[in-house]
Amino acid sequence: MALVTLPANLTRLFHQVHVPLFDTIRALRSVTPQEIGLLWKSITTKRRPKRVPPINSDFYEILAELSPEERAVQQKIRMFMEERIRPLANGYWERGEFPHEIVPDFARLIDETFGSRPYAIDALGPVLTGVACMEMARVDPSIYTFFGVHWGLCMGSIDLFGSPEQKQRWLPPLQRFELIGSWALTEPDVGSATAAGLTTTARFERGFWVLDGAKKWSGNAPIADVNIIWARDVASNQVQGFIVERGMAGYEVERLEGKIALRTVQNANIRLNGCRVPEANRLPNVGGFRGVARQLAITRAAVAWAMTGVAMGAYERALAYAQQRIQFGRPIGSFQLVQNSLVQMLANVTAMQTMCLRMSQIAARNRSISQEQASLAKVFCGEKMRETVALARAVLGGNGILLEHGVARYFADAEALYSYEGTHEMNTLIVGRAITGISAFV
Ligand SMILES: Cc1cc2nc3c(=O)[nH]c(=O)nc-3n(C[C@H](O)[C@H](O)[C@H](O)COP(=O)(O)OP(=O)(O)OC[C@H]3O[C@@H](n4cnc5c(N)ncnc54)[C@H](O)[C@@H]3O)c2cc1C
Repeated sequence: MALVTLPANLTRLFHQVHVPLFDTIRALRSVTPQEIGLLWKSITTKRRPKRVPPINSDFYEILAELSPEERAVQQKIRMFMEERIRPLANGYWERGEFPHEIVPDFARLIDETFGSRPYAIDALGPVLTGVACMEMARVDPSIYTFFGVHWGLCMGSIDLFGSPEQKQRWLPPLQRFELIGSWALTEPDVGSATAAGLTTTARFERGFWVLDGAKKWSGNAPIADVNIIWARDVASNQVQGFIVERGMAGYEVERLEGKIALRTVQNANIRLNGCRVPEANRLPNVGGFRGVARQLAITRAAVAWAMTGVAMGAYERALAYAQQRIQFGRPIGSFQLVQNSLVQMLANVTAMQTMCLRMSQIAARNRSISQEQASLAKVFCGEKMRETVALARAVLGGNGILLEHGVARYFADAEALYSYEGTHEMNTLIVGRAITGISAFV
C-alpha cells in the first residue's frame, strides 16, 4: 500500500486533532443511527430566541382613560423627556448644574402642550396635568421639580391670588419661560410649622412693603427672575404674598450647596434685609394661610403624580436590567426572588397610578381638590415610591448606586419628594385630622 506523505504543517495539524477525533469516532460507535439523527437535528435546528415581553409600566391601562388629544400631549412629553432630557440628566445631576441649554426647547414643548391657551393653574385639567408631571418625573425628577416650582407654585400663586394687572404683566413672560419663577415659604427655623409660625415680616411704610427675615430651600431661586415671598403682615398678623424681583435692594440669594437629591434643581437660602416691595407687587387675594393651603392641595396632587413617575422610571430600569444581567448562567429575572421584587414594584406603581387617576377625576368633577384628598395621595405615593426605588436599587446590586445604570438618581431624588411640599408626617396629620375630627399637629 502506497503511503501518503503529508506536508509538515498538515502532519502537525493531524497530530493535534487525531487523538480527540479518534476518541469521538470510538464513542460514536456505541450510538444508534436514531440517536445520531436526533443529534444532527439539534445541531442544525435554529433556536428561536425567547420572546422578551415589552416593558409596560401601565399595567391597568390608565393612559387609555385619556382622550386622543390628551394622549398626543402625553406622548409628546414622553418623547421630549426621552430624547432631549434623558441623555443629559445624569451629567447635570452629578455636576449639580441646571441645564439652561434645554430651556428654549422646554418652553416650546410647554407652548405646544400646556401653553397654547392663556395660563391657568388647572388649564389642562387635573388628569392631564398629573400625567404630564408623571411623564417628566419618570425620566428626571429634577426637571419635574423645576417645572413644578415655576409653573405650579410661582405662576400658580399669581393666577390664584394676583390682580388682573399682575396676571397680565407676569404670566405671559413666565409662560414663555422668558422669566423663571421661584417660590419661598419655608424658613431656616420654620418648616412644617409655617401655617402659624412664619417669622419673615412685612411692614407697610409710605407706599412700600418692607420685608425682613430669611427663607430656605426656595426652588429655582438662584436662576429666577421673580420669587413669591410669603411673610407675616405685622399689622394684621395675616400671611401675605409678594412678587419679589431679582435685583431689588435687600433681596439676597445664596445657592444651597451639598444636596444629595435633585442636584440639578437650584435651591437657595434667601435673606431679606429691609427689602422694599411696591404695593403693586403684593398679591391681593391670598386671604391668609388658607389661600396657601388651597394652592398646596393642588400642587401636592401633582407631587403624588410625580412620585408615581419616579416609581415607574425605577421599575422600568430594574426590569430591563433583570432581563439582561446574567448570573449563574441565567438572566437574574429568572430567579424567583428577583421576580418577587419586580412584581412588588409593579403592584406599587399600579396602585399609585390608579389612586392618582381617581384623585384627579374627582378634582375635575368638583373643580377642586380637598387638602385631605391630596394629602392622602402624597402619603400613599410617597411610601410606595420609596419602597419601589429601594427595591429597584437592590435588583441592580452594586450597579444600583452607579448613575450610569439609571436607578441611582431616582433612589436619591425620591428622598426630596418624600419631604417637600409638606413632609410625609404633616400630610398624614392632615388626613388624620380630617377622618377623626381631632387635630394632632402639636
Ligand atoms: C429639595 C427640596 C426643595 C424644596 N423646595 C422648596 C421651595 O421651593 N419653596 C419652599 O418654600 N420650600 C421648599 N422646600 C422646603 C420643604 O417644603 C420643607 O423641607 C418641608 O416643609 C419640611 O420642613 P423642614 O425641612 O424644615 O422640616 P421640619 O419641619 O423641621 O421637620 C423635621 C421632621 O419633624 C417632623 N415633624 C415636624 N412637626 C411635626 C409634628 N407636629 N408631628 C409629627 N412630626 C413632625 C417632620 O415631618 C420631619 O420629619 C424644599 C425642600 C427640599 C428638600
